[in-house]
This record gives sequence, structure tokens and C-alpha cells, in this order.
Amino acid sequence: MQRYSAFALAREAMRFHSGWERAWRSPEPKRKYDVVIVGAGGHGLATAYWLGKNHGITNVAVIEKGWLGGGNTGRNTTIIRSNYLQDPSAAIYEKSRSLYETMSQDLNMNVMFSPRGVMMLAQTQHEIRGYQRTAHANALQGVDTEFIGPERVKELCPIIRIDGPRYPVLGALWQPRAGTARHDAVAWGYARACSDMGMDIIQKCEVTGIRREGGKVAGVDTTKGPIDCDKLGIVVAGHSGHLADMAGFRLPIESVALQALVSEPIKPCMDVVVMANTVHGYMSQSDKGEMVIGGGADGYNNYTQRGSFHHAEETVRALVETFPVISRLKMLRWWGGIVDMTGDRSPIISKTPVENVFINCGWGTGGFKAIPGSGWAMAELMAKGTSSLADSFSLDRFREGRFIDESVAAGVAH
Ligand SMILES: Cc1cc2nc3c(=O)[nH]c(=O)nc-3n(C[C@H](O)[C@H](O)[C@H](O)COP(=O)(O)OP(=O)(O)OC[C@H]3O[C@@H](n4cnc5c(N)ncnc54)[C@H](O)[C@@H]3O)c2cc1C
Repeated sequence: MQRYSAFALAREAMRFHSGWERAWRSPEPKRKYDVVIVGAGGHGLATAYWLGKNHGITNVAVIEKGWLGGGNTGRNTTIIRSNYLQDPSAAIYEKSRSLYETMSQDLNMNVMFSPRGVMMLAQTQHEIRGYQRTAHANALQGVDTEFIGPERVKELCPIIRIDGPRYPVLGALWQPRAGTARHDAVAWGYARACSDMGMDIIQKCEVTGIRREGGKVAGVDTTKGPIDCDKLGIVVAGHSGHLADMAGFRLPIESVALQALVSEPIKPCMDVVVMANTVHGYMSQSDKGEMVIGGGADGYNNYTQRGSFHHAEETVRALVETFPVISRLKMLRWWGGIVDMTGDRSPIISKTPVENVFINCGWGTGGFKAIPGSGWAMAELMAKGTSSLADSFSLDRFREGRFIDESVAAGVAH
């Protein structure tokens, strides 16, 4: 793999950038692999990466029906945090956040991780109690968060209005090492590292069937022909129900559209991420100057990868109340992605009823932050059959009533 460095950049500048190699190969699929991963989003690619890096398994294909990173991985608002309430969640999200800290060096790709700090506003008495409880839980879990008062909120984010008419800002749960990263670069970085390890990333190839023999996986049928494999990982976010159906089992998952938008670029005015869960809107400023705004999920199941107008209206209305300064900005782009939601708003990283078929899904509205840790855990589960980070998130929990309830705890899960 050609290494990216300041020296390489200078050298290429001298020769009109004619010497850059392709970041990853685009091979035709082989007839058989040890492991096939369906879905070249962040989670699928990170799974492949850690299979190679931690477990020495490199005869791997990652199969993607569109282009890599073109699903939710390239559509999210890039918030990275680990201030979850329940212990298994804090463990996997904090592992992930810590892997983001060194990701640019590990992958030799600048993923622009910016630990600028994330605050979740408390705008009701209930939220104050909830976030104070989370701060205490985080202290026990070793996650660095604190509950701060409204004056400190204003100090950290001067453009915020703390005495709003409906929902004044009463405090916030503040995680100083949380932040954002460039989502495409995360997918590209993993893809490049996987390709370098000899793995095949096969784009524009849809999996249309899953073949089983004697209760075990035998391979997949794809639009580029059949591919055999010993182990199969299904990592397709909003399409998980379809793939599970192909494998012959059902999932407790709903698919809904979640949307986001960005404003025209303006001068730097906000260097933290703010989430306002009561009014349901969140905002950060990108390096280009655009205000990156996220809102709620559709209230009905669907597969439309676009926004619905009433949500954009509600989100913007809510944010204008908290940030009056943005009221005259123009909206530049607006999009949606299909997110996969479980009842307890926690992910599934699990074996399945079909031997050697593993599934990673249910990250819902908040899985970008989890990409490195989820890949780490899924790879361990696929290689060893068990993983301390993943075992709590198995499918069994729905049968056993062992929920990891983050929906009540977090209110919103971005
Ligand atoms: C608007 C929006 C805002 C969000 N904001 C945040 C945020 O701020 N912070 C955060 O942590 N998370 C956020 N999320 C959630 C986050 O984006 C997702 O949880 C995460 O990206 C899921 O990654 P993935 O790799 O599982 O899925 P994806 O990136 O969707 O990848 C799955 C891939 O599987 C492919 N696929 C599907 N079916 C098949 C098939 N049959 N054959 C082959 N390939 C197939 C798809 O084409 C897709 O590329 C947001 C999501 C949205 C939509």
C-alpha cells in the first residue's frame, strides 16, 4: 500500500498528482472465501479489517450492492460519543471512541477525528435527573463525562440561547473527548487497509440469496454469480430483515427513514456538538462551515432514502428556538437513510439460528460512532464464537427478556 504522508503529498504535487495508486482494488469475486461479509458500510468493513488484523483471517470478501460507504455510513451526522447508561453499551461505545482517537494513524488515512466535545442539553427537570444519573453511571464505567450547569453551557457554546421561551437550557451532560469524524474517510480507510491485506471488496454486487446445507451456511447467490463461504457476516443496517429472511430466520427489527440536512457555509461560530433531545434536533459545524443538522426518525416503517418535509420543519423550528442566530440560514442539502431499530434501541451482534451465519445490525440512529468497536467485537465473535464486547448483544436477549434499554435512558440515540 502506498503510504500517505506529507512527503508523499509534496512529491505528488511536484509531478501533477500523476503517481497516486488506486486506494483499493476492484476484483472479480472468487468462487470461494473463508468469510463473506455482506455490506460494505463502516461496520462491515471494520469487521473485515479486524478479522485480518486481530485474527489473521484474510481470505475475506466484502460484498456491496451499491458503492462502499453509500449506505448510512455516508449519510450520518458523524456524532461520536460514549455516554450511554447501561454497562454493555458504555463498554462497546467507549472502546469505539478510543479506537477513533488513533484511527488516522492506524489506517494511515486522515479521518479528521475531532474530539471537540458533545453536550446533551437538559431542558426539563426529568432530563436533569436522567443525565445526572448517566454521569454517575459513566463515572463507574470509566467514561469521562460530567453534568454541567447552564452558565458553563453558554461559555462552551456562546450562540446558544439558555433562557428560551418553551424549554430553557437547565444544564447538559458534557463529554469533552466526544466529537465528530469524516464519515466517508472512515469507510475509505478501512476499505484501503482491507484491500492491502488481500481482501476483496466487491462493489455493485447484490446478494440475492443465502444457500444453506444441513443447517449450515454454504454460500451466497449474487448478481455476479454464486460465492461459497465457510462463514457469513450480515452487516446491512436497514436491509437486515431482508437478508435474515433469505437465511430463513426473523429479526426483531424495524426499518425507518432518518434524515439530516446542512445549511449554507458560514464562518466558524460553534466548536462543540449540541444535542437537544427534548425538542429533537442536534447541530454541529463542519470544517467547511456548514451547520450539520439532524432530526427525528419517521414514525412509520419505510425504505425511502430521503427526508420527509414535516420532520425537517420540526427540527429546524426546534433548533431556531435554541439557536436564534441560525434563523436566516439557507438549507443547502437534505437527505435520509434507512436505519434499523430494535425495541430496546441497542444493537444486535450475534450468532443466528443458521450455523456460521452471524449478524450485526440494530445500530439505528447511532451506529457511526460504534464502527471500530463493533467491527472489533463482530470479528472476535466470528473468529472465536464469543466476544466479551458482543455477547450481551446477542439475539437471545429478546427471548430471555434481557433488554439493554437505551431508549428510555438516552431518549435519542445519535
Ligand atoms: C441521517 C442520519 C444521521 C445519523 N447520524 C448519526 C450520528 O450522528 N452518529 C452516529 O453514531 N450514527 C448516526 N447515524 C447512524 C449511522 O449512520 C448508522 O448506524 C451506521 O452508519 C450503520 O452503518 P452500517 O455499516 O451498519 O450500515 P450501512 O452504512 O448502511 O451499510 C450497509 C450496506 O449494506 C449494503 N447492502 C444492503 N443490502 C445488500 C445486499 N442485499 N447485498 C449487498 N449489499 C447490501 C448497503 O448498500 C449498504 O452500503 C445516522 C444515520 C442517518 C441515516
